Amino acid sequence: MRFADIIGNASVAKMLSSMADSGRVAHAMLLYENEGCGALALALAYVQYLNCSNPSGGDSCGECPSCRQMSKLIHPDVHFVFPVNKGPKSSDDKPTSESYLKYWRELALADPYFSEADLQKAIGIESKVGLIAVAEAKSIISKLSLSSVSDGYKAVIFYLPEKMNQETANRLLKMVEEPPEKTIFLFITHAPEKVLQTIFSRCQSIRVLPLTKEEAARVDALKPLSDREEYDAQMDLFSDLMNALAGRDLMGALECAETMAALDSREKQKAFCTFAADCIRKIFMIQQKMPELASVTPEEEEFYRGMASRSARTFCSRTITNIEKAVAMIDRNVNSKIVFCDLVNRMFLSI
Ligand SMILES: [Zn+2]
Repeated sequence: MRFADIIGNASVAKMLSSMADSGRVAHAMLLYENEGCGALALALAYVQYLNCSNPSGGDSCGECPSCRQMSKLIHPDVHFVFPVNKGPKSSDDKPTSESYLKYWRELALADPYFSEADLQKAIGIESKVGLIAVAEAKSIISKLSLSSVSDGYKAVIFYLPEKMNQETANRLLKMVEEPPEKTIFLFITHAPEKVLQTIFSRCQSIRVLPLTKEEAARVDALKPLSDREEYDAQMDLFSDLMNALAGRDLMGALECAETMAALDSREKQKAFCTFAADCIRKIFMIQQKMPELASVTPEEEEFYRGMASRSARTFCSRTITNIEKAVAMIDRNVNSKIVFCDLVNRMFLSI
């Protein structure tokens, strides 16, 4: 991936290439983004640029041996860490990212703007919670203690450090604090407040900006069709719910709650919650007169503007809190009909 291939975030790309040019390469960096805004694409382009043997004009060449290895995500000095769990696609008893690397590569090559739910689906653990366990820390430490194959930078692209427990973080801490020479950690998070403070405080943080409408549409066009179908199904359900709530139709809203509860796994139910929270944030941004941060598509603009004017000022913040509580209850295996009926009731009362 070259910086030129990245959709949006030109200022972040420029900052990363300038850092590399000036030799001020931070050994630990945290890119935080709203899901799907390109942090992984930026991390890949940055590592490719650092290791390119013939960079020019602030970008990698795309043709040298290192760039070619990066374009297939098979560079021997670039390692990936992401949340995993046991599942049918790996026979490992204590799986690490390595166990699922093939699927990670396929996914990231097809669509570097993928979501956490896309990753879970790709590695076959939709019904489980992805975690970064201590076995991962051991694996990374042993990989980084080997000398680099190519004489360039060794890099760990660490997707969702918020999924790492304290023990894993403790194991990694020294390595993150004082990595071997020419070794960098790039953490990508969607929830910086959940990243363990011991890790967070050792990183240089960079905000990856939300995409504009036009950029989001270009990212959407990259998505495989099934992703778009899933998006459409989630959007249909969310708009049915909001229309029922805004029309004071409690029965209609409760029917939507039944549909949510009938989604066929806890992960799908949580994925819908994440989707709904994102939509609510868009309504909030429009209410706050910051529509540029909402990044809604032209087709959806009328819907979001309508909902922003039909819901109370406090509706969005209350609903986001209630959605977070619903996700926590789903994680604790509370009956999903109860969870979603309760959520919808609360939304009905606060809109
Ligand atoms: Zn190159």
